[in-house]
Amino acid sequence: MNRLAAAALTLLMMGAARAADTELQVSRAGTRPVTQASAQTFTGNAKVEMLRVPTGPDRASIGTVSFAPGARTVWHSHPLGQTLVITAGIGRVQRWSGAVEEMRVGDVVRIPPNVKHWHGAAPASAMTHLAISEALDGKTVDWLEPVAEAQGAAGQAVAAPVQPSRAQRLIGDVAPKLAQLTDEVLFGDVWARPGLSPRDRSLATVSALIALNRPEQLRSHMALGRKNGLTNDEIVETLTHLAFYAGWPNALTAAGVAREVFSTKP
Ligand code: MN
Repeated sequence: MNRLAAAALTLLMMGAARAADTELQVSRAGTRPVTQASAQTFTGNAKVEMLRVPTGPDRASIGTVSFAPGARTVWHSHPLGQTLVITAGIGRVQRWSGAVEEMRVGDVVRIPPNVKHWHGAAPASAMTHLAISEALDGKTVDWLEPVAEAQGAAGQAVAAPVQPSRAQRLIGDVAPKLAQLTDEVLFGDVWARPGLSPRDRSLATVSALIALNRPEQLRSHMALGRKNGLTNDEIVETLTHLAFYAGWPNALTAAGVAREVFSTKP
């Protein structure tokens, strides 16, 4: 090969390498492994899906973590800090010797570098967050000891004083067993299952109650749906959509309920 041809080949190869560096990488939904969080570093049931692990000069790892009710990390810190974005449910976060804070859908929590903390789900609600952390010398986290039950329980009690449930208040006197089943089976088990996010469970429930024309139950489930991340626009879109499937009068009833619910704070 003459010198000119060799130079041309080198240029060609450099071009190919550069093209590979500039290709977009699309990791499709449903193709990434979802793994059970390690019992060494989590208490209770949690599932982790890594969305992005740095492969080049980038440093940010992005994972989505779904905690069953009451599940949480052990105490830990991050050398360059961490950002949490709550995408479903209700969570708790606490720094060492700090107060337990509640986290809700759309909240963004910044944990500074080397601050000892834990995060997890509220005792009666599942929670999913995105976790974004940058690596320092290849490391994103330093795991420490488990959160003592006393720390977790006492702290969580501060953030969420135990009050009679809605079911207890509404029907506890007349139908105590139904109130107990509502709390323990319906909300404690079915609603907490990780197969659907709380937001999606709310969308399914609100849709069913619109279709069945149940304004009493719809009122409380619309309110719960907003807490679980449904927007007012999405609720209105749902009832408009259902006018064609469940009947115009049902949609009109639901619109009246929506007006009432929207006038309150989520
Ligand atoms: Mn953390």
